[in-house]
Amino acid sequence: MREQKKSVYYCDHCKKHTLTKQSMEKHERRCTSNPDRECAMCKHCEGGSVGAGKLKEMALAGATIDELREAAGGCPICILAGIKQSGAMKMWEDDPLHESVRGWNFKKELSELWAEINSHAELQEYRSYYGY
Ligand SMILES: [Zn+2]
Ligand SMILES: [Zn+2]
Repeated sequence: MREQKKSVYYCDHCKKHTLTKQSMEKHERRCTSNPDRECAMCKHCEGGSVGAGKLKEMALAGATIDELREAAGGCPICILAGIKQSGAMKMWEDDPLHESVRGWNFKKELSELWAEINSHAELQEYRSYYGY
């Protein structure tokens, strides 16, 4: 038997942790709980997104999913980030794929977007940073 001690890197914004510093740095930059996050998905969407911080304010002010989608330029990850950060969907902390909230089907919008992007490599990379 050999015992090995390793460092664990925790995200400042959510519960995710990894064993490599580099992958956690990358995750933190894009973490959906980070108000100043960079969105790696926006480039695949039509309009420019106002960003997670602004979407959070809109969600707090009671914006509908359609209004959020328009402000996010159609980017489901930006919408998710804004809603999550607004605290309007606490249950999403543990279940980001919860489908019934306000009738918005995150999983469906995301899978439609991936079908358009059609890049297996990018999907794999994405999943390793977000977990969904
Ligand atoms: Zn995180
Ligand atoms: Zn985005």
